Amino acid sequence: MVKQVSGRDFDYDLFVIGAGSGGVRASRIAASHGARVAVAEEYRVGGTCVIRGCVPKKLLVYGSHFAEELQDAANYGWTVEKMTFDWPTLRDAVLKDVDRLNTAYTNTLENNKVERFLERATVAGPNLVRLASGREISAKYILIATGAWPVMPEFPGSEHCITSNEVFHLEKLPKRVVISGAGYIAMEFAGIFNALGCHVTVVNRSETILRGYDESLRDRLLQITMARGIEYKFNCPFDRVEKREDGSIDVFLGKQPDPIHADVVLVATGRRPKTDGLGLENAGVTLGSAGEIPVDDHGKTSCDSIYAVGDVTNRVQLTPIAIREGQAFADRVFGGKETSVSYDCIPSAVFSQPPLAGVGLTESQARQAFGSNIKVYSSDFRPMKNIFGHRPERGLYKMIVDASTEKVLGIHMIGPDSPEILQATAIAVKAGLTKADFDATVALHPSMAEELVLMR
Ligand code: NDP
Repeated sequence: MVKQVSGRDFDYDLFVIGAGSGGVRASRIAASHGARVAVAEEYRVGGTCVIRGCVPKKLLVYGSHFAEELQDAANYGWTVEKMTFDWPTLRDAVLKDVDRLNTAYTNTLENNKVERFLERATVAGPNLVRLASGREISAKYILIATGAWPVMPEFPGSEHCITSNEVFHLEKLPKRVVISGAGYIAMEFAGIFNALGCHVTVVNRSETILRGYDESLRDRLLQITMARGIEYKFNCPFDRVEKREDGSIDVFLGKQPDPIHADVVLVATGRRPKTDGLGLENAGVTLGSAGEIPVDDHGKTSCDSIYAVGDVTNRVQLTPIAIREGQAFADRVFGGKETSVSYDCIPSAVFSQPPLAGVGLTESQARQAFGSNIKVYSSDFRPMKNIFGHRPERGLYKMIVDASTEKVLGIHMIGPDSPEILQATAIAVKAGLTKADFDATVALHPSMAEELVLMR
């Protein structure tokens, strides 16, 4: 049983730096356990996910998807006259929703009596925080939840490029977009811009997209998106970027003499933990080579009074993980509950078009762990929606099974709504169900999800 703390000698029991997903959850739960909590945020309450990440991105995905839906509508008898798209309308509607969520998160803190300091805070000692205004505040515990920040690699002209921080604020819809990187952000925005009618070129330093996802799904996404008009340049590092007088941008790749012409260049080459200038050295907190804060199983740093959760620890850069880490920290330190976060079988998705999603081991990970002692089942099908929409695109579901026990090790899928379908599937994988358990479940017809119980 963890001993409860009172911390009456300090200004607060807990001072949280960063009001994103992890910081807000930790603040709220700690306060509900009776702790006196303050949080500092230098930008906007809500953090990356709410302000300039998952939420506004998903709304742009929804917005861009209407292109396909409206085209399909004609097949169902609808006449859609004069189909036009206005970027400022979508952009502003999305930004308005971000404002709404910012207010909701602020209210959550207020309702839970968490004091807010809307300014930058740094660590001045093991129990001391210094605000940008110069004020110093003491706390029994400090929680670092500052998240991560897009990396902008060094190359001449990088100042003409934008990151995912700026992409939500574009003045107008670009005709030509070059995207550097082929990870989550690159593939999601490639899909959004492509659906909105922009010409998209994805440029990556390696020969692959979405490293870490199952290879068959990556191949399928590559084929489908190429057919949709997205161009790819692999093994092509950026050499330099030049801005022309008319405002357009020339992107020079490797040793290629001819540039790619673009109106917007989006760099999406990973995110770095946001620890620069945070003063962690004042409390003896050591950092890892990528600037991350190494923590133990309970989120404790090398300083006993300082904890860290979320992207700043660079374990799994996903919002639900930051939330769980924030909850577990607060429950343990202030609620006396012995809780920790399970990093096993974390489902994830890429909201590309079509989207893909996965949980558990990919085929190549399973082969590494189990050798040839695995079975791979799959279903390669053309969703009914695509048949009616005259789209040749096919969905692909894959199940990786331990051949000895029949236990499902991983499920991976690409096709319409696959992230929605995968969430429920992830429960079965996490629970350790077998292929036989899936087969024993009657198909729900007609649906795409039924393919999960029909795999061969
Ligand atoms: P990713 O790590 O997903 O992808 C980075 C891409 O940039 C890869 O294609 C990589 O190439 C390339 N790259 C890496 N370093 C360099 C470099 N120095 N120079 C040139 N290219 C480079 O990063 P993102 O920025 O797309 O996303 C950051 C994180 O945000 C993700 O890891 C994810 O955790 C999170 N996120 C999650 C989303 C979701 O859950 N749907 C959505 C958006 C973000 P390669 O690997 O081929 O070598």
